Amino acid sequence: MSIQRTLALIKPDAVKAGHVGAILGAIEKNEFRIVAMKLVHLTKKQAEGFYAVHRGKNFFTPLTDFMSAGPIVAMVLEREEAILKWREVMGATDPAKAAEGSLRRTFGTSIQYNATHGSDAPETAAFETRYFFDELEIC
Ligand code: ATP
Ligand code: MG
Repeated sequence: MSIQRTLALIKPDAVKAGHVGAILGAIEKNEFRIVAMKLVHLTKKQAEGFYAVHRGKNFFTPLTDFMSAGPIVAMVLEREEAILKWREVMGATDPAKAAEGSLRRTFGTSIQYNATHGSDAPETAAFETRYFFDELEIC
């Protein structure tokens, strides 16, 4: 086990629906330390840059339209095995397949509108953290 950091987002659907407080509560209940946090409204180009790995896929245009449609909450979360643990707390990509009680099962409404994001590996966590935060913004 080792202390890790991951980049987490509360997506525009969940911010708009008023689920920020409940999701922050779940983050603290699961013993993550929030080491950076801000509200951001991505441009379409910034959303495309963040999800560049999915360029060319059939869901890339709707995904980047969605992610630039309203403000999101961007955070860096720290705890043991943060990357895996945060993905566990979020649940599967498709809310219909996500475990009972997971964030996506509770707050997501479709495979696209799935409420939260989390990095999937140490390399993506490093890229995604730098995408949103400068060194000095991480406490
Ligand atoms: P995220 O990267 O947002 O944490 P994930 O790693 O579980 O989610 P990815 O495969 O990286 O899933 O897909 C990125 C995002 O693209 C998903 O969270 C979802 O919003 C959207 N997405 C993925 N697959 C589809 C699909 N088949 N149709 C529509 N949207 C999709
Ligand atoms: Mg992903």
